[in-house]
Amino acid sequence: MKERKKTVRKITISLILALITFTVLIPLTPAKAQPDFEKIEVYDLGDGIWRFEEYINYIDYSISSDAVVGYYKVNIYAIESEDKLILIDSGVEHLAGWLHSNITSATGKSPNAVLLTHAHADHAGGAAYFHVMGAEVYTHLWSQYLIFIGMNFSLIDPTYAYLVNPNFVYTPGYAPINLYDLTDPGVESLLLIDGAEFIIIWTPGHSPGSVSIIYNNPSGKYLLFTGDTTMPRPEDDDPVPFDLTYELDYWTLEMIASVPIPSPYDEVMGVDIQLSSLNILRGIARLLQRGHAFYGILPGHNNPYPANFAQWYLKKSIKIVDEWV
Ligand SMILES: [Zn+2]
Repeated sequence: MKERKKTVRKITISLILALITFTVLIPLTPAKAQPDFEKIEVYDLGDGIWRFEEYINYIDYSISSDAVVGYYKVNIYAIESEDKLILIDSGVEHLAGWLHSNITSATGKSPNAVLLTHAHADHAGGAAYFHVMGAEVYTHLWSQYLIFIGMNFSLIDPTYAYLVNPNFVYTPGYAPINLYDLTDPGVESLLLIDGAEFIIIWTPGHSPGSVSIIYNNPSGKYLLFTGDTTMPRPEDDDPVPFDLTYELDYWTLEMIASVPIPSPYDEVMGVDIQLSSLNILRGIARLLQRGHAFYGILPGHNNPYPANFAQWYLKKSIKIVDEWV
């Protein structure tokens, strides 16, 4: 009994000493690590269609290179066609390996092809990685150059230099060699990948080489992938101040509204061009809806919209873009 009391006292003394040590040491430890919001959510949409949603740290480089002030989300879609797997977009560069392992564990397949909606870092940044992993990468001619320089905006025109934000830059030097066969905005071209049919529509504005993609899935429903031609709605962001998904696309809208005139991109970039692309998408969505074979819109950011919300969603995008025209 006596011995036990002694032990208890010894332990108590050790605890007090440990507490004192920690109290003294805590102020000496380095500053708390920056928040890390990065993760990938996996959504099974049925019929062999998947949505992978990357949460990407947004860094305020005016503070420091590790000042994570929030996050933004981007969608990568995977389409299973028999034994093949086709991606719509490739996510950011630094999450490509992680995305790949999420895709293979969800579908049991590695991507055979990647169809890019446009050249921006959150959509095309992972393209070089998937190319190395054996996928054929497809893009629009106007996106090929931007992917090669690894930037969201071209630097041919020096007035764009101020638009370089390190969050939206990726490794230069890779350019996809498979180009969509498109010569006029709105004109569609058919792309066959191992029996899977894709209709590519050039919908410029948000970027010179932005396209929208229609896929007719085996159950007869048409899916319309719109990339960033459609806008994320603020109401669809997570209800936390550091979800910047809407804010960042809105910021891009401000950027493209300030395209200098005259510019080599007059016909392919700008809010007025994006507006006419959105009107083309409204017509296509209306036709698909009329045929009763429309699944819905699968945008580049935030959640998909089922067929009966397609016109409503497109009108919301038009309203946001129209304010800048
Ligand atoms: Zn974009």
